[in-house]
Amino acid sequence: MTWEEAEEAFETADYVVLPCGSTEQHSLHLPTSVDTLRSSHLTDELAERAPDHGLELLVLPPLPYGYSEHHLPFSGTITLDAETYCEVIVDIGRSVKKHGGKRFLITNFHAGNIEPHKLAIDRLQREYDLPTRYVNWTDFARDKLEARFGDKWGHAGEHETSVIEHYRPELVRQGKKQPQTLHDVAESEQFRYFDDLTVEGGLGDPTDSDPAFIADIIEETTDKVLSDLKTGNQDV
Ligand SMILES: [Zn+2]
Repeated sequence: MTWEEAEEAFETADYVVLPCGSTEQHSLHLPTSVDTLRSSHLTDELAERAPDHGLELLVLPPLPYGYSEHHLPFSGTITLDAETYCEVIVDIGRSVKKHGGKRFLITNFHAGNIEPHKLAIDRLQREYDLPTRYVNWTDFARDKLEARFGDKWGHAGEHETSVIEHYRPELVRQGKKQPQTLHDVAESEQFRYFDDLTVEGGLGDPTDSDPAFIADIIEETTDKVLSDLKTGNQDV
């Protein structure tokens, strides 16, 4: 968009959306761009389907860096400091506010981003008076994913492998897919670096991926998120 086009789009959109990914290791079979690819493809699904729900979404370029300190022992991982990342989100939000955005929506595709996001959203709503919604996409699909994949899938496992096989199958190193090898860690040992948790870098069993199943989940979840965005007390 040119700035003139953007001027109109910011003012008419029901939500200005920031897709949030990461650049971090995703085991031996997936590229470091997994979360950013998911953020881009799955947020585009929301924007395309939005008119069916009477909504218009303006999607900003995805943010390819997040808070990934816990993956840093694996090469290819790039992290922002948690405070820096929180500031980045606030800066983007206040730019949206400046241009007349009515509501901000953060779509998130990396669990490590959640804590800095929460602090940033507190500030945007309280200091900048910018109504902000938060969609941690996987939470809207979690019940269905657990019914199909059990409760062991996680980072670079069945779910993420299926999503990348659906959108970008050429990026999946099929020969490197294997059940992930976990270290023995006590439940109370929290917030460890990922190489303390797993040998290959992932969780679960990526050989049990199911891109056909995930295509249905994407459709259902897209509608579920849009229905949620249509409700609430912010006069959408
Ligand atoms: Zn991921």
